[in-house]
Amino acid sequence: MKRGAVAEIDLSAISHNLKVIGKLVQGCSIIPVVKADAYGHGSVKVAERLLKDKVQFLSVAFSDEARLIREAGIKLPILVFFDPDPDDVLKYNLIPVISDKKSALRLSEVAQKAKLEIPIHIKVDTGMGRLGFIGDEIKSICEIADLRGIKISGIMSHFSDSDSSEQSFAKLQIERFKFLREQLIEKGLRIEKFHMANSAAIISLPESYFDAVRPGLMLYGVSPIERPSASMEVASGYSLLPAMSVKTRIISIRKVPKGTPISYGRTFITQRESLIGVIAIGYADGFFRAFSNNASVLIKGKRVPVVGRVCMDLTMVDLTDIKDEVGENDEVVILGRQGKEFISASELAFRAGTISYEILTSLGRGAYKLYKE
Ligand SMILES: *Cc1c(COP(=O)(O)O)cnc(C)c1O
Repeated sequence: MKRGAVAEIDLSAISHNLKVIGKLVQGCSIIPVVKADAYGHGSVKVAERLLKDKVQFLSVAFSDEARLIREAGIKLPILVFFDPDPDDVLKYNLIPVISDKKSALRLSEVAQKAKLEIPIHIKVDTGMGRLGFIGDEIKSICEIADLRGIKISGIMSHFSDSDSSEQSFAKLQIERFKFLREQLIEKGLRIEKFHMANSAAIISLPESYFDAVRPGLMLYGVSPIERPSASMEVASGYSLLPAMSVKTRIISIRKVPKGTPISYGRTFITQRESLIGVIAIGYADGFFRAFSNNASVLIKGKRVPVVGRVCMDLTMVDLTDIKDEVGENDEVVILGRQGKEFISASELAFRAGTISYEILTSLGRGAYKLYKE
């Protein structure tokens, strides 16, 4: 039996979310993002599911992530966002995103030697301030279009704050991208796909769709846009289903007197005779130390507080209020649903002062994963 924390991944939730995205973007192509091990959900399993759901593309951050997907026998076109290695691009038949002239030249040489024509996408920086052509983009793109061995099949850009309720900067980025697109068309460049929308833009900026969209977070059932209500609705009538739940077990329960210090640093002292449970999850499993005295878990369908410091492999919880129902080996839900209660990635993110992305990648990383079809 598996002893520590387990991440349960519901693949049918991912299929559902893909359908929701399809309805929102209506006919525009979808490039699902499976970087960072599919946001902690397991890139190969997710890619296999998406293939069954008939996606036409995948995208990853680095070429070694694409290699894993190829080794699993998946032949879909894969876009590699960052630092694509030309040898990997050839060997694994990848579509690199080119963000500077130097890598374009290098790829062109490698492609010519191999007597191949490699499709590439070009990244332009419309305001993200990270990677991509900035200033004189038209000239650079035209120069790259003239290189032999490579063919520009897409132009992309990335939003800096499409999740903000203040949309003026995102709209400025869209305007810059539109302007660029018009100029390239005027120059007679025929490029298949222009794309810039991430999840937040898919939800709140339909004018950013162009020819394709690149959903990450929302594919996994989490909205990047914090709403005051707990509703998972991303547009009227469309709700996302979270794909990851994280569970563990109570490994020990002890009754302790009032005044007992709990865990490292004695940051929690019992205020009454208490029933303290020890659960098998800690910061080594991605349950942040920032959750010390600062999170709840679900046991017997009820919220139970974390008490004292989160340790490397263990965490203590106060079971006093459910003492008549609880027993050793009971299931503990860290993320997800139990009975009527639900702990969302956004709730955990808020408590730890971070974003849902980091909650999913941290809890998902290295966790033993169980897949539900
Ligand atoms: C991660 C990433 C995305 C997906 O972003 P989400 O907010 O998770 O939807 C899209 N495009 C690029 C270039 C990315 O790096």
